[in-house]
Amino acid sequence: MPDTDPLLAPLKSVLDPATVRKLATLDLHTIDDLVRHYPRNYIDVRQLTDLALLPLGDQVSVVLDVVSAQVRQNRSRAGSRLEVTASDGHRTIAIVFFFTRRGPLRWHEDALKPGTRALFTGKLGDHGGRPQLLQPKYEVIGRDLIDDAAAEERASYLQVVYPATGKAKTELIAEAVKTVLDPLTTADVPNVIPDAVRAEFGLQESLEALRNVHRPTEIEQVNAAKDTLRWEEAFVLQSTLAQRRVAAQSQRATPRPAVEVGIRADFEAALPFELTAGQVQVGGEIAHDLEKDHPMQRLLQGEVGSGKTIVALRAMLQVIDAGGQAALLAPTEVLAAQHARSLRTMLGPLAEGGMLGGAAHGTQIALLTGSLPTAARRSALLQAASGEAGIVVGTHALLSDNVTFADLGLVVVDEQHRFGVEQRDALRAKGVGDSIPHLLVMTATPIPRTVAMTVFGDLEISTLREIPKGRAGIESILVPASKPHWVDRIWHRVREEVDAGRRAYIVCSRIGDDEETAPEPDSEEREPVSVIDLAEQLRDHPAFAGLEMEMLHGRLPGEEKDRVMERFVSGEAPVLISTTVIEVGVDVPAATVMVIMDADRFGVSQLHQLRGRVGRGSQPGLCLLVTSADPDSETGQRLAQIAATHDGFELAQLDLQVRREGDVLGTAQSGRTSLRLLRATMDVETIAQARNVANTVIEADPELRAHPALAAAIHRIDPERAEFLDRT
Ligand code: ADP
Ligand code: MG
Repeated sequence: MPDTDPLLAPLKSVLDPATVRKLATLDLHTIDDLVRHYPRNYIDVRQLTDLALLPLGDQVSVVLDVVSAQVRQNRSRAGSRLEVTASDGHRTIAIVFFFTRRGPLRWHEDALKPGTRALFTGKLGDHGGRPQLLQPKYEVIGRDLIDDAAAEERASYLQVVYPATGKAKTELIAEAVKTVLDPLTTADVPNVIPDAVRAEFGLQESLEALRNVHRPTEIEQVNAAKDTLRWEEAFVLQSTLAQRRVAAQSQRATPRPAVEVGIRADFEAALPFELTAGQVQVGGEIAHDLEKDHPMQRLLQGEVGSGKTIVALRAMLQVIDAGGQAALLAPTEVLAAQHARSLRTMLGPLAEGGMLGGAAHGTQIALLTGSLPTAARRSALLQAASGEAGIVVGTHALLSDNVTFADLGLVVVDEQHRFGVEQRDALRAKGVGDSIPHLLVMTATPIPRTVAMTVFGDLEISTLREIPKGRAGIESILVPASKPHWVDRIWHRVREEVDAGRRAYIVCSRIGDDEETAPEPDSEEREPVSVIDLAEQLRDHPAFAGLEMEMLHGRLPGEEKDRVMERFVSGEAPVLISTTVIEVGVDVPAATVMVIMDADRFGVSQLHQLRGRVGRGSQPGLCLLVTSADPDSETGQRLAQIAATHDGFELAQLDLQVRREGDVLGTAQSGRTSLRLLRATMDVETIAQARNVANTVIEADPELRAHPALAAAIHRIDPERAEFLDRT
């Protein structure tokens, strides 16, 4: 069916091919893509930024006038630098660029002549008591704005700044938006929100809001437009979710009732510990869901180490007892392999069904990952297709690949809040006949209700708040990277732990094998240390004399990862230098210490996840957060907060303050999110209002016959359409 929606027309129908190609670097392909690419900033070019108000150490965007610009030869090395002095009318700062080639130097010198007003973006550093911007990005606003006759006119509107790329610069985007937006009429952009609702909440018309957000003359217009666009986003999304709820009521699943004699009962009888009260309760909820003839859609959230795996395993065994299979999806191959290993250990003879010495009610566990050798892969595929494997463990490829199951009854998604609405669609194809597998999504990143409502819409939520008894807990300490003797002390501390028979993780933010630009020797900004570099340094460090170390990162081949993890677990190599591949789920109870280098490079929940890898046994864990961030900067304070609290729920709130849901929920990686302005944590009221209206509209008119504009808007965010576009 061809799209008749004018907003879905390709950009090439209105823009020249060169512009179209450049906009494609931002993943903008249709008119709708472009008009939803909102400015990230508005700058009143009449006003310079007050330098006195800016915090040192933070990322800043400032409008300043260039007072002077001088080229100087570098003393200590080849090349030269451009030293710019820029002013806000009262104070000045130094802006420095380094060059090794003449061409770029000339170009920048020309762009930044005295009298130029520009927007500079970079980290505000300190150079001998004077604020300094090193190699900032910049955008020229104009020259001699104050005296120029044209300045008055230029300054009569707000300068918009778009999220841009090297190819698609902000001016190019602004120009394209103007070209596209000017001829659009209300027939092309009909109002998505019903008139009465718009009046009730004081919202603008759809087209008006788009014009105001892209081409405002006053900042107040922007705010009102954004309110409308935000409401629209919430409304379209909630309408989609309401439609899905209606559809879900007609979806079928095979009931998988619990039985008294079977593999689940055998497993529970052999459990070496008592389940926590939470595990029992949540287990009951899930067992009950599995008995229904509608697919379970449940999110299990629980603090790191709260014991989610057992809960999932009991559910999987219930399904196996009822004649079905379960798939366990992990975010990485390392984690999938670990799951397969630990499930086999936990089940013991129960995982050797059909084999000599296996238990009467046994089943088999198949591991299916991309890096398996062909023969092993073929045999795992066969086990899944024949039903011989009751549990199939793998990455998300399990759902997308042409993996077939004899009777898939349950899908468990581990450590993934990324399993959104879109991915759930892939499940539909995996059931037998019109029956859909039950779904259990597990995450250690607590998701506030509004976020869950926005992103998952119709998932039931269970929470494990308790940590099993007998855990010694974990302590976090900030270590300033600027104090070499402190850092040195860390390595000796690691050695002490290792000598006591324990394991240590050292986490870096980079691998260090790619062709990275060498750090500027004069630059104050230290490059984050890489896995490869640190491994080299530590090999020669006295604290590590005679110790075996291993490196782990995502670019190692699968078997190599397995080998490294085995050596680490066994203690042959008790120190593991790694990237965040160990972030989620890795369970090595003997690990007691984790050193996180350049901790400021990681997000809040990432750090919390990472340190959750230690202190999982009976020995207390220690997490050392090494950072060069100024303790008074925003980053430094955020790190202090992370060190001070170990409550995942509190940290999740902190996290959501600094990141957008798109990032937190990972949708940015797995496909484009339809949320541009809406923030589930901030816009609670908007979401609740939109949800009410959406429910009323959909209940009365599920096919949206009387609401074509809403139907079209839903269609535009439909992932299946996006997929269709990708294929054409
Ligand atoms: P997470 O929720 O982070 O995925 P896991 O499921 O990996 O946590 O559990 C962490 C560890 O706690 C595992 O070694 C598991 O065997 C153990 N565990 C789980 N439940 C209990 C319990 N009720 N009592 C004691 N140990 C438990
Ligand atoms: Mg886990």
